[in-house]
Amino acid sequence: MPDSPSAPLNPTAVTDELRRTALQLGFSSVGICPAIEPPGWPNFLQWLELGFAGEMRYLPDRRDAYQHPSHVLDNARSLVMLTMDYRTVAARTPAAGRGRISRYAWGPADYHDVIHDRLHQLCDWLRDRIPSCHARGVVDTAPLLERDFASLAGLGWVGKHTLLLNRDRGSYFFLAALLTDKILSYDTPTTTDYCGSCTACLDACPTEAFAQPYVLNATRCISYLTIEHRGPIDPDLRPLMQDWIFGCDVCQDVCPWNRKNPVYSGEAAFQPVDTNNPANLLDILRLDEEAFRRRFRNTPLWRVKRRGLIRNVLIALGNQQDPRTIDSIALALDDPEPLIRGAAAWALSQMPDPNYVQAQLRQRLKTESDEIVKEELQRALG
Ligand code: SF4
Ligand code: SF4
Repeated sequence: MPDSPSAPLNPTAVTDELRRTALQLGFSSVGICPAIEPPGWPNFLQWLELGFAGEMRYLPDRRDAYQHPSHVLDNARSLVMLTMDYRTVAARTPAAGRGRISRYAWGPADYHDVIHDRLHQLCDWLRDRIPSCHARGVVDTAPLLERDFASLAGLGWVGKHTLLLNRDRGSYFFLAALLTDKILSYDTPTTTDYCGSCTACLDACPTEAFAQPYVLNATRCISYLTIEHRGPIDPDLRPLMQDWIFGCDVCQDVCPWNRKNPVYSGEAAFQPVDTNNPANLLDILRLDEEAFRRRFRNTPLWRVKRRGLIRNVLIALGNQQDPRTIDSIALALDDPEPLIRGAAAWALSQMPDPNYVQAQLRQRLKTESDEIVKEELQRALG
């Protein structure tokens, strides 16, 4: 029943209804906490100081906004923290010529669109129920330390791999938040860390991206390198990236909380497209801009654009060192995009046919005008 200006709000009744509505909309769990300074704020500042955010300028640029949710919604009083599971089928073991995509991006749709749609419905429901309320739903893009608030809302703890972990759900879920200026009934925060003496995620990380438990140096993380980092990738890190072309699931895959009670999503938008689990590297390498758009528009992979994804594909091909792919890689030396030409030079330099490779690289060097690509070519020749 909608509130009236004179009737006092019953936070418990509204919260119970809100919870039920969120679950009906497809969210898998709901926790509610007050809008306060997040407990991890000092750690976040220190993390930024250490330069671990790399090129993610949107983090330091909005540094102060992370201090309080009122920077996301004026007069925010409460946060409704929501999870949506995305685990579907098992990851297939990639054979030669295949590359791995993080499981959250296997589906035919971008999760931002899916979750925003549900958040809008939840906000509409809340505004109907409490006409005087203001509400805003956010997923990923607002200056909000979501994991801290999810923990405050009783949804789990932040594991050593720095992701939110829940004893029943593991960590394969998206996190979203609905902020409102109304006081709701709050959940008990999660205060226990169930990682114990486990170090599986720290030990398994292919790039040693954890500066210490609970601290990720994003500049070494494959997820950051394949998605956020826009330029050439540090040559020392390329061999460590294995066959990951978009994101990385290693630290989650090894986590016992994800192995114990797997929770599967029935959400149609997250069911895997056959070509994403895993992906055919040469098929992606052949995509021009239009074909890339047709295949990846409206999916999470659109974010990295053709240039970023093909850079990643070339690194994966270089790591696989399959001589059958040499000609296709050599063709990429003539791509209009310098980032792709540079990655092709590196990939060729990893191949087991030095005479052919050297001839291709020298030929390209004669006409190459981009200084960064020239450096890549020279390094590959050297
Ligand atoms: S996502 Fe991969 S690279 Fe990044 S921290 Fe986890 S295991 Fe390491
Ligand atoms: S792998 Fe072990 S240490 Fe890492 S997050 Fe999971 S339980 Fe914690």
